Amino acid sequence: MINLDLHSHSTFSDGTLMPESLVARAAQRGVTTLALTDHDDTGGLAAARAAAAEHGIRLIDGVEISVTWHGQTLHIVGLGIDPSDAVLQAGLEATRGGRADRAERMIAAFEALGIAGSRDGAQQFAANPQLIGRTHFARFLVTQGVVKDIKTAFKRFLGGGQPCYVPHEWATLDAAVSWINGSGGTAVLAHPGRYPLDTAQMRALLSEFRDLGGAAIEVVSSSHRPHHYAAFAAHARQFGLAASAGSDFHSPHESYHDLGSLPELPTGLTPVWEVLN
Ligand code: AMP
Ligand code: MN
Ligand code: MN
Ligand code: MN
Repeated sequence: MINLDLHSHSTFSDGTLMPESLVARAAQRGVTTLALTDHDDTGGLAAARAAAAEHGIRLIDGVEISVTWHGQTLHIVGLGIDPSDAVLQAGLEATRGGRADRAERMIAAFEALGIAGSRDGAQQFAANPQLIGRTHFARFLVTQGVVKDIKTAFKRFLGGGQPCYVPHEWATLDAAVSWINGSGGTAVLAHPGRYPLDTAQMRALLSEFRDLGGAAIEVVSSSHRPHHYAAFAAHARQFGLAASAGSDFHSPHESYHDLGSLPELPTGLTPVWEVLN
């Protein structure tokens, strides 16, 4: 197991723990370096930083930016960003901007299926009103007993092509990488094993990402199984990209890997934490 975790969420996006509790849990579970990477928002970093100092662990300022690339949603993690950077903040604000209208369209889709109350229901879980997302709707469906768990909520309602999925245009790949790099951060392609791309498309993505200034890909991730570790380790070596590891922790009850339980990176890779600015 490794004691770094470079991908996690708090209540500032779709995690269920406040930044202070997230950091406390990470410290308790043996994590010595944690990146908080909320979706499209850096509002939790100040509290996380204070908590990290209290617990004697290192906090890396992070963010996970939502991107649309050839119609496909991608997530780009920025590590070691400067949250006070004005261009980065304007970019994140613009990226968050479409979420309220998207949520309204999801609510309409739930109503069309005879599922009422999703507006208040989802909002109850969205502590950051600017950051309403599908996970908040998924939690509402679970508490209503419509589905047994979050995974089923995505499979039946919220995932791509399902009846309450609302297509959305996020930031461009170019913009997300340049906001991250421009603020002194390092851009990491999150959970590449999750995207429905064939090998040729994945290679095109990795080559474009690298040419735009992307520096690393997640090799170890909760979204990955061991066969992904090997496949993306090979991609990282081939494309000269560094490798990252993150649990993508959202909640004590929802994540596959808890904080502090990630396996080591495969050998022969450059760990991204050795090349952070
Ligand atoms: P959004 O940014 O609103 O589209 O929500 C994306 C978030 O939904 C991801 O960061 C995950 O937390 C969650 N998510 C997406 N797909 C799934 C899935 N199949 N199972 C569980 N959670 C998912
Ligand atoms: Mn999420
Ligand atoms: Mn993600
Ligand atoms: Mn994430």
